[in-house]
Amino acid sequence: MTYPTQPKASHFINGKYVEDTDGAVIDVIYPASGEKIAQVHSATPAVIEFALSSARQAQGAWAAMTGTERGRILRRAADIMRERNHDLSVLETYDTGKPYQETSVVDATSGADALEYFGGMAATLTGEHIQLGEDWVYTRREPLGVCVGIGAWNYPTQIASWKGAPALACGNTMVFKPSETTPLCALKVAEILHEAGAPAGVYNVIQGLGDVGAALVTDDRVDKVSLTGSVPTGRKVYAAAAAGIKHVTMELGGKSPMIVFDDADVENAVSGAILGNFYSSGQVCSNGTRVFVQKGIKEAFLTRLAERLKDAVIGDPQDPATSFGPMVSERQLGIVEGYIAKGKEEGARLVYGGARLPQDGFYIEPCVFADVTDDMTIAREEIFGPVMAVLDFDDEDEVMARANATEFGLAAGVFTRDLTRAHRVAAGFQAGTCYINTYNDAPVEAPFGGSKQSGVGRENSKAAIAHYSQLKSVYVRMGDVEAPF
Ligand code: NAD
Repeated sequence: MTYPTQPKASHFINGKYVEDTDGAVIDVIYPASGEKIAQVHSATPAVIEFALSSARQAQGAWAAMTGTERGRILRRAADIMRERNHDLSVLETYDTGKPYQETSVVDATSGADALEYFGGMAATLTGEHIQLGEDWVYTRREPLGVCVGIGAWNYPTQIASWKGAPALACGNTMVFKPSETTPLCALKVAEILHEAGAPAGVYNVIQGLGDVGAALVTDDRVDKVSLTGSVPTGRKVYAAAAAGIKHVTMELGGKSPMIVFDDADVENAVSGAILGNFYSSGQVCSNGTRVFVQKGIKEAFLTRLAERLKDAVIGDPQDPATSFGPMVSERQLGIVEGYIAKGKEEGARLVYGGARLPQDGFYIEPCVFADVTDDMTIAREEIFGPVMAVLDFDDEDEVMARANATEFGLAAGVFTRDLTRAHRVAAGFQAGTCYINTYNDAPVEAPFGGSKQSGVGRENSKAAIAHYSQLKSVYVRMGDVEAPF
């Protein structure tokens, strides 16, 4: 049987859709119904070989093009992505279950932003001239070679674009492996890039589970690995890449703090907490899931939060009115339910939601726990679902120590009207991506990434260029060479 969401084939390699039905079947399940909406096959060794050899072969000619020529292709791809925003958003919603209300303004649009930004930057990438008396050194900014991108399931179009755009702008080629849970959207990114003029082999997509990812990471032809995933997977992939001394970018998990001081604008703080806990049904890596609320504002904060949560429209994610969709998978739903049970068991006070909805699909209500303490499991582990933990605090020194007492360091936010405190707190956060009086904005112009166990390297912004290129120094002597004998 064919499904409307069925891709032309499982993989996109060397400019074309490619199928190999010998690979294990991966069912694509629509999170809003639990129904199978497509199937793809995991990459066989032959498919992996084809993808890597195509990327390797294409890389020299791609890097030899001028930055202006490469950039023009990326910018054309951005335009196509924007023109197809509706269809791409519908597909993203099928792939992930996230509401169309979100996907239509966040996913393909953010992918297009990355293609446009790095497309514009491609022609500006240069080395420098360093004068040393009569001699001089010049540096060349060179691509790394073949890059492997490995994605998580929460933002399949965005992750495929955030990795592909800077990689291609710098003259690298890419083999991208989406999450096995959301295999559909990255194929569209590949299709669009090639329609925009990317030569065959420049951007390839292959499907599979961790074993396919591992085969890519350990291949000698691969120069760089960029992973978006959990910390445990990050440890494995980082170690495997280290064995081959490969460059890495690791975008991993978090358990980020959001601090609300007594003087904060309650309405904005509640909006920030909603955005930072319930957008994408809580499946956002940088979410501020430990919400520290100063005692003087606690009741006002919880009351207003409960009122605002009643406005969530939970339902068919393809309906533009829906603002809260299902979890991505039955498995993830089970993980979230497990944490909610643990929260109750360990004595946190359930103040809102948390029940599974009696309907098809993987729906659970947004959930808020109050009176959470630092030692509780729901305050320590990444849940990756719509579970907010509200913790009380008295003063700044105390809350900063508690906010930073975590192995993670992806993001952190503060709500306050006190200007100097806001900047002092931001400076004190042990996290890569921080927010003052807002939460989870991620424009392509700003670096995004984590510190501590949450990752290495940065995506987006000019900073990403350093992670997809390397400098070569060339010393030029203008006079005679002096030797000791
Ligand atoms: P995951 O770690 O289970 O999987 C991520 C990807 O790694 C998948 O494509 C998977 O197939 C692949 N993989 C698994 N084992 C591998 C191995 N040994 N070698 C190579 N590849 C392997 O993560 P997930 O459940 O898909 O996504 C959720 C996690 O991703 C959360 O922890 C979340 O915080 C994190 N995340 C981080 C960011 C960020 O930018 N920091 C963004 C989104 C999600």
